[in-house]
Amino acid sequence: MRVQTLYSGLLLTFALGFGVSHLASNTAKQEPNKRPVARNRVATAAPRHPLWPGSRFTEEDRDRAVHRALRFIYHTARNPRNFSDHGHDYLWCFYTTAEAMKDEKLRRTAWRMGVELARRWRARHPSVPRNADVDTVELLAFGNQTVGELGFADARIKKEIALAAARFTARDYLNFDPITEPPPSDVPAVCPKCGAYNSRGVTVCTVCKTPLEMMSRYGVWYEALIATWSGDLYGVKLGAHYADVLKWLPRMRPYRGREDGNNSDFYDSVFAVAHVVYTLNDYSIYKLSPALLPQEFRFLKSSVKDAIATDDSEMLGEILDSLKSFGMTNDDPEIRAGMEYLLSHQNPDGSWGDPTEKDIYARYHPTWTAMDGLSEYAWRGEGLSFPELKPWLEKWAR
Ligand SMILES: [Zn+2]
Repeated sequence: MRVQTLYSGLLLTFALGFGVSHLASNTAKQEPNKRPVARNRVATAAPRHPLWPGSRFTEEDRDRAVHRALRFIYHTARNPRNFSDHGHDYLWCFYTTAEAMKDEKLRRTAWRMGVELARRWRARHPSVPRNADVDTVELLAFGNQTVGELGFADARIKKEIALAAARFTARDYLNFDPITEPPPSDVPAVCPKCGAYNSRGVTVCTVCKTPLEMMSRYGVWYEALIATWSGDLYGVKLGAHYADVLKWLPRMRPYRGREDGNNSDFYDSVFAVAHVVYTLNDYSIYKLSPALLPQEFRFLKSSVKDAIATDDSEMLGEILDSLKSFGMTNDDPEIRAGMEYLLSHQNPDGSWGDPTEKDIYARYHPTWTAMDGLSEYAWRGEGLSFPELKPWLEKWAR
């Protein structure tokens, strides 16, 4: 999930609990022993299965790349500082990988990693801190929802979170109230100099006087989609319901392409549309009919070339798994081009993106989305996270 912009800086709350790094039993994974080769046979090279006729990459290459990616993410998650800052996000990565992927070995590995980290997360967050601010409450809701899925549900904390969550308004959580207005374009991004959050409409940081950039309305929208979807999933309202935020979809159309770099909203538009897909398909559990989201499907399909042209593995990964949800496969030229790109650009350490980047989110998140973009999914047929939204989508598609 891309909630980082909103939360970077306020996660210090979470850093405090860490002190001594109790690195629970190092579970550096040993692959299960390969089946022994029959004694009297000469071992031959493993069979190679091209991803498609003529592909220079094989299914084995893809599987290896995906497993290396998961190990890289796990390695960074075990760093106490990283886990303190992004624990809820890491948990979501391992949980959704274990739930959605087709590769059984990958699912099992991700589940083991997720359970280990969930145990750690639960120990670090035994209760809601007194006077917790809105962001702390929100991250506690995200994290508790996921650790619950991983087997560590806690009804008492959930009650505490629900009580704390009710103290805040939609504008506190989402920067706007989706009941009464569409995603706005006057929300300042976090101050690049001092990390302060400024009120809507403020253009110069009230703390350090640095000029502020505005978030795009697509950025505001997708953060609200994620927050409300997670809240509804958990059963604790975080300012508004998911449907209240999704209902602005017709107002966010049409999606403008990159326009040779002249559309500054392009990047957030792609992430917003990808998150419309994820929140509707329960993060790659269900296939979506392109007939329900025709403009979104066309926009993502046409953006593959831009993600490749701008060397944006993170964006490319989110586009590819979204397109796969719409039914595209390795038979489609866009999927082939994207998979070829990702398989040719994995870093030696198993990651994607800029290996010199200091911000750990910018290391593990592109790796996660690239892993998702390359993967095959265990689709459970066509479906929707909230089936009651189907008539809306049908109406909007006309
Ligand atoms: Zn500032």
